[in-house]
Amino acid sequence: MTGMLTIAGLGPGDEALVTPEVSAALADATDIVGYAPYIARVAARDGLILHASDNRQELQRAVEAMRLAAQGRRVVVVSSGDPGVFAMASAVFEALEASPQWQGLAIRVLPGVTAMLAAAARAGAPLGHDFCAINLSDNLKPWPVIERRLRLAAEADFAIALYNPRSASRPEGFARALDVLKQAGCGDRIAIFAHAVTTAEERIDALPLQDARPEMADMRTLVIVCNSTTRRCGRWIYAPRRVS
Ligand code: SAH
Repeated sequence: MTGMLTIAGLGPGDEALVTPEVSAALADATDIVGYAPYIARVAARDGLILHASDNRQELQRAVEAMRLAAQGRRVVVVSSGDPGVFAMASAVFEALEASPQWQGLAIRVLPGVTAMLAAAARAGAPLGHDFCAINLSDNLKPWPVIERRLRLAAEADFAIALYNPRSASRPEGFARALDVLKQAGCGDRIAIFAHAVTTAEERIDALPLQDARPEMADMRTLVIVCNSTTRRCGRWIYAPRRVS
């Protein structure tokens, strides 16, 4: 048996947004490795071993996946959304770099629909002009770096997609992020709160950033702070293509 390590994105939640390529990889796998809630999205079947792990164990998870693939197994490491966006693909390559014995492994990365694209589609086209994405988790980067990026993104008038806005272990960070953006002059910009997009619990709210409250976000929310030219057209929110 020839081992293969596939790093795949399951999309934002809806089964219809899992790509056919990812479905085929899951159907062909011997082992699935990932954070427990994502593993729960993969249908169990005979012969398929599910290796569920805790949230912060990305590196151990990556090493385990490589070890299994080196034994000849067909391993799929799953992330939600896209595996390259604040997810497992970087962790696997970080582990690979530190493990010369595995550098000949067959590896592939299969893209998925990332949360900001699913959220933007629900709202209309808020990412239709230049935009950036910032992870608000400070587990792996110091808060001053986050704050600086927020300020510069605001100054450059990017639409800003905020991942991991708020968690029980970091209740203060999002309130600080909102303050930084308000101080940077974004108070009038439209803020979109997209909760659990494409799932049964989906909820989309949009309001001026200055009226946003920190409790509006949780770990299942993707926030888009629109650029200054973004406007409403009926129920839709869109970024015009032209900026003078
Ligand atoms: N790799 C994932 C992101 C992982 S970080 C992707 O590409 O989408 C986890 C964060 O993604 C969450 O805190 C939330 O901000 C966002 N997210 C993931 N799925 C979401 C969904 N269905 N609805 C809203 N936000 C989501």
